[in-house]
Amino acid sequence: MGGSSRALDFIPGSSPPRTPQWFDALRGFLDEHPHAGVGEIGLDRWMENPNLPDQEAVFLQQLELAAERNLAVSIHCLKAWGPLENALKNNPRPERGFLVHSYGGSAEMIPVFAKLGAYFSFSGYFAHDRKSAQREVFKKVPLDRLLLETDAPDMLPPRELQTFPGEINDPRNIQGIYEYAAGLWNIPLPQLAARMEANFKSLFLAPSKASG
Ligand SMILES: [Zn+2]
Repeated sequence: MGGSSRALDFIPGSSPPRTPQWFDALRGFLDEHPHAGVGEIGLDRWMENPNLPDQEAVFLQQLELAAERNLAVSIHCLKAWGPLENALKNNPRPERGFLVHSYGGSAEMIPVFAKLGAYFSFSGYFAHDRKSAQREVFKKVPLDRLLLETDAPDMLPPRELQTFPGEINDPRNIQGIYEYAAGLWNIPLPQLAARMEANFKSLFLAPSKASG
């Protein structure tokens, strides 16, 4: 990206690059679409050369805006669970709660994040054989805080879960993930589906506040 900036000036050292206007632009989009969610936002120490202080500064601005307006937030976190906990603990959060998508943290952190308002989403990726440890962690998520996702086009599930088989994950694979999750949590599929619908409504369809 470095040398090709034509009209856009980036904040020096921002990684990945962002313009000084990024926050006003985000606020403007949310003014136009007051029921939209915010995300994915979050912290990622798995990426190449992560600049965590820079990520934290941006994340906190996004989180504050979402909290102010009580918007649904989808949080991405890789290898930064301690910093995420601190950020959430010490700052206002949306009243409706927030989603930690494709949760890859520890079992011990589940009640900690749940107390702060977290929902946890499980993707078909966790159905791969090598992910059995994380599946055990996921079983500790209370059912009223669980959601299911594909994370398409990423996180390709194993072949047997692919309702629409291919090399790229398809959003319609959600069907296979529901069937798999019903087996994993050992509850009938209609009951699981009803629970997921209720959780979805609490998190994503709660009323937001008018922008001030
Ligand atoms: Zn993500």
